[in-house]
Amino acid sequence: MILFDPQFKQALPIIDKIEEAGFEAYFVGGSVRDTLLKETINDVDIATSAKPDEIKQIFQKTIDVGIEHGTVMVLWKDATYEITTFRTESTYQDFRRPDNVEFVRSLKEDLKRRDFTINALAMNRDGQIIDYFEGQKDLEKKLIKAVGNPEERFFEDALRMMRGVRFVSQLNFEMDRETELAIQKNHPLLEKIAIERIQVEFTKLLLGSGRKKGLELFIRTNLFYYCPGLKDQKEALEEFAKLECTIDNRIVAWTVLIYYLSKHKPASEAEPFLRAWKCSKKEITQVKSALFALEQRLNGTFNSQVLYQVGLPIALDVEKIMACLGYSASFERVHSMYHGLPIYNKKEIKINGNDLQEVLNRKPGKWLGNLMLEIEAAILSGELVNEKQAIIEWVTH
Ligand code: ATP
Ligand code: MG
Repeated sequence: MILFDPQFKQALPIIDKIEEAGFEAYFVGGSVRDTLLKETINDVDIATSAKPDEIKQIFQKTIDVGIEHGTVMVLWKDATYEITTFRTESTYQDFRRPDNVEFVRSLKEDLKRRDFTINALAMNRDGQIIDYFEGQKDLEKKLIKAVGNPEERFFEDALRMMRGVRFVSQLNFEMDRETELAIQKNHPLLEKIAIERIQVEFTKLLLGSGRKKGLELFIRTNLFYYCPGLKDQKEALEEFAKLECTIDNRIVAWTVLIYYLSKHKPASEAEPFLRAWKCSKKEITQVKSALFALEQRLNGTFNSQVLYQVGLPIALDVEKIMACLGYSASFERVHSMYHGLPIYNKKEIKINGNDLQEVLNRKPGKWLGNLMLEIEAAILSGELVNEKQAIIEWVTH
């Protein structure tokens, strides 16, 4: 008997209400897997024999999040739960997700279409595990193994190949031999998959505790061949795969990857690379900042200008990267340097445009912006004290 995680406990009334209405309902997927691994669980997913409209009759507050795929979101006591009708995915076109799902009344049918045995587990309201595909055995063996015939499963949805290497990294598991061979054989199917979906799995791979193993598998199976900007980068990826350190956020992950891809030189191609991977604008800006700071840091310690420009979080990420790459790093030094900066943004400069126009008796123009930049730089370098009188003297000589 499993001791219920508070998240499961909170969701129990949902299962009970569905059962009271005469249907079956179970916890499924990642939450069951993670609770058996004694890991913290992310989100609780529920699978049910009730159809979406039947779920909507049982609960007052629902949102149609993916009703065509059988998923209804239920709002319950300040939390939301995705409730998905048992389904099989019958027609697959182009090796992508099925465009047509068929609702079924059997849990076994539903679990059969899931990707890996460890993800095909269900748990009832009493904490009993329903395991038709030896998922618990594979959890013990720490094995990622496709449900049923791996090749068929990858033909149905080629993203599963990326999910497989992602789970190897995330859970620090091994991949079942037959499953690996099926990926190796069918890796070109990945070409059909939307980059956004590949990116989700790839970044999870990079952040996993078994990244080394996951990346080696990603290379060995040739999956990298169909990922943006990686086709000709086998050697760089192999170098990257040797790194032992943990990577704990996406900015660090992309920055280190690009550092290897660009052969340790400044990465001018970072932006098109990240755009091809469909990263967000914000993330691209942050990674570019980190690459800029990394380049400076590789040449010595940070200076005030760089710290001011990139900010503390990026500077600390870069320090992590230095440690990761085997250089000496000091987080205290970065903190104290940052806290010793004379200013943190332009607004803190003790003089403004109007003052400067008055003092210099000039009309506004491009000179003003340039002069402000010079003042900013002089304050940061310590050449100029951030006081109005001192700045006036400095600009008037
Ligand atoms: P995470 O902890 O990263 O959320 P997860 O196992 O919950 O891992 P999800 O992507 O949230 O992964 O998917 C939930 C469940 O849905 C999986 O455990 C699996 O049973 C099933 N699943 C998800 N994607 C696929 C897929 N492409 N093919 C088959 N089954 C899938
Ligand atoms: Mg999940």
